[in-house]
Amino acid sequence: MPTIARLPDLLISQIAAGEVVERPASVLKELLENSLDAGSKAIQVHLEEGGVKLIRITDDGCGIAKDELALALTRHATSKITSLDDLERVGTLGFRGEALASVASVARLSLTSRERGASHAWKLRGEPAAEPEPAALMAGTVVEMRDLYFNTPARRKFLKSESTEFAHCADAVRRLALTRPDVALSLTHNGRSLFQLAPADAGRRIADILGEEFIGAARNIEAVSGPLTLAGFAIDPTRATDAKDGQYVFVNGRFVRDKIIGHALREAYRDVLHGSRQPAVCLFLNIDPALVDVNVHPAKTEVRFRDSRAVHQFVFHAIQRTLAAPVRAETAPSLA
Ligand code: ADP
Ligand code: MG
Repeated sequence: MPTIARLPDLLISQIAAGEVVERPASVLKELLENSLDAGSKAIQVHLEEGGVKLIRITDDGCGIAKDELALALTRHATSKITSLDDLERVGTLGFRGEALASVASVARLSLTSRERGASHAWKLRGEPAAEPEPAALMAGTVVEMRDLYFNTPARRKFLKSESTEFAHCADAVRRLALTRPDVALSLTHNGRSLFQLAPADAGRRIADILGEEFIGAARNIEAVSGPLTLAGFAIDPTRATDAKDGQYVFVNGRFVRDKIIGHALREAYRDVLHGSRQPAVCLFLNIDPALVDVNVHPAKTEVRFRDSRAVHQFVFHAIQRTLAAPVRAETAPSLA
């Protein structure tokens, strides 16, 4: 008979990492979300070799206290929720307390952080029995991940080319840039600067990320109904191109892939857009956090609405109404 044994902690984390750390871009997403949750107003991203060799995030957020650095790297340790009640109305991007531990189990991770008011920074390497060492940093946190999957070669084989992995990383940065126009963001890959975004209003930021062309060819969406609001842009059906333009849908500031909203969009465009074209949209749906469950999957790109019918109808009607309205000569992006 096979005997039952508890798995070692490292292996438990490596198994859990399979759900959160799919590729460099998923690490990057988790680290960026942490920087935003820490109240950062400026975030720099440095990548090497598509993020496989290096992901370094520098932020100006609240920082981590010296004696909490080690805790931040352990599983199920979080500063963001303390009760089931919090979980049911979570207002932060993170809450599972798993990302850093997962990343630390499949890559070389280090945290350097200076808590507000501290006289200097501390650095902790994510290795067993490592101790914080004094470090130089003006404020905020630097999270550095090197050599993704160095200890899990089977996983490494699933990585795609450097350019593909980089493209996914750039996408992750763009999505966050869209939801948080108030935050300055820069991206560097292999020493080359890809973009430097200054804080902007929402319309400006969307134009920065998705292009003036998209804004010029899109209808401005604004709708409110009870606990639901929808804002953003949806491509004018007569201006849609064959290019596979992106569909960016955010629920309470979180990028999601949602079947309900996707279906509502297809329906709203059904009679006005030909063939199998995906309408390009950038939409921000806001809803009372108590009416949406974000704890569906560890990667948190899925949500479950308490009343999905109401969400479907709301999105469908808001888009359909806007697309049916006559085009105004000057539809200047308002969304400030
Ligand atoms: P979660 O985000 O779900 O809480 P993580 O494993 O991503 O879990 O992070 C663990 C904890 O480490 C966070 O709750 C937070 O307190 C701290 N932390 C992580 N990154 C940062 C950062 N950039 N600035 C400040 N604190 C951070
Ligand atoms: Mg997190």
